[in-house]
Amino acid sequence: MKADIVTIFPDFFHGPLDYGITRRAQEMGLVTVRLHDLREFAHDRHRTVDDRPFGGGEGMVLKPEPVFECLDGLHIIPREERMAARARQSVILLSAQGRRFTQPVAAELAALERLVFICGRYEGVDERVADCLADRELSIGDYVLSGGELAAALILEAVVRLLPGAVGNQASTQQESFTSRAGKDGGEQNAHQADASGADSTCGSNGLLDYPHYTRPALFRGLAVPGALLTGNHEEIRRWRRQRALEKTLRNRPDLLEGALLTEEERDFLADLKNYG
Ligand code: SAM
Repeated sequence: MKADIVTIFPDFFHGPLDYGITRRAQEMGLVTVRLHDLREFAHDRHRTVDDRPFGGGEGMVLKPEPVFECLDGLHIIPREERMAARARQSVILLSAQGRRFTQPVAAELAALERLVFICGRYEGVDERVADCLADRELSIGDYVLSGGELAAALILEAVVRLLPGAVGNQASTQQESFTSRAGKDGGEQNAHQADASGADSTCGSNGLLDYPHYTRPALFRGLAVPGALLTGNHEEIRRWRRQRALEKTLRNRPDLLEGALLTEEERDFLADLKNYG
């Protein structure tokens, strides 16, 4: 995968992308990241990239010319072709007004060959960039950041770890929070299949939050690791993990339960939790 990041702060990314899996993926050649300094595409003496908004109002707006000129040089497939889903490329404008970035969107982006991130600043980016250059606007949450750089780094990290070979144990990315292995519409049979698909004691999240993890020591400051995990009984461990994931999802993200794949036993467990929990 090739990732281009268009920003007025290219140095920002030295750090976020230089550690762990993201760094290793670059070293392995799974992803190539190129940083583009927008100021290099501003031609006045002060390398100005912002201007006052037409119609008045607060703050400054990122000008369209440097962004368009920068993208011209990247030789991206035309927007209409990208929009028609014929191209495995996407130009992403980071924006608080964008569609919410989620794990399924990360998976969608991980299947592409080229991603271009346009990081906004000031009060935002001249709307012609959204209208004519970007094929999607993405938001990382309902809050306002000062710029798109953190959002771009966050999205890239979530995408890169889904690239085949990026994570040492690829199976682990299949069982994490928000990941549905069997698909939302698979019904109970799929829920069973997904549960049984690990020959070990792990279980796919099937749309739930991840289950709790413990490691050595088994007893730490009087806090014991739950007994079920020490039994060696894979089925018991799997059931325990699934129930804890259900409890945590009900407590922290009840909205996820609607789309989760649950067996009848799990639905009963959930009903009991709601009635007596
Ligand atoms: N006036 C804008 C609004 O109210 O939606 C906020 C602009 S913000 C100060 C500057 C830039 O930060 C945006 O152009 C965008 O690139 C980035 N940004 C801010 N919040 C973001 C979010 N939640 N997700 C993605 N990018 C964000």
